[in-house]
Amino acid sequence: MKTYRQELLFNTKERRDYINITDDVQAAINKSGIKEGLCLVNAMHITASVYINDDERGLIKDYDKWLEKLAPHAPIEQYRHNDTGEDNADAHMKRQIMGREVVVAVTGGKLDFGPWEQIFYGEFDGRRKKRVLIKIIGE
Ligand code: ZN
Repeated sequence: MKTYRQELLFNTKERRDYINITDDVQAAINKSGIKEGLCLVNAMHITASVYINDDERGLIKDYDKWLEKLAPHAPIEQYRHNDTGEDNADAHMKRQIMGREVVVAVTGGKLDFGPWEQIFYGEFDGRRKKRVLIKIIGE
């Protein structure tokens, strides 16, 4: 069995962002040489997510509005986590809803997706260095 590990780096301009990383993940699979196996992709921070859904601009705006309704950033005093001097309690909650990681089958050297599936990095407390881990195992 072969294994391959790679990190993707992010430093978003905005506090929240949604970035399609499908091509980066496929590039990692290509580099790994693995044709049959599993590919794990996870956010390495507790204020960011990796998730799978449609790359449709309207849907991405809908997600952002929905998450901000569920866990508004302001007023920051509404969260006990922010009593520690942080201002990112909302980002922890947004990450919890959108998830930590995805696992995708690798078949014939390609991500074995269903219709319209794309892998996204969801940033909820950006404007600083963040990482995503890609781990691929197989033959
Ligand atoms: Zn925090």
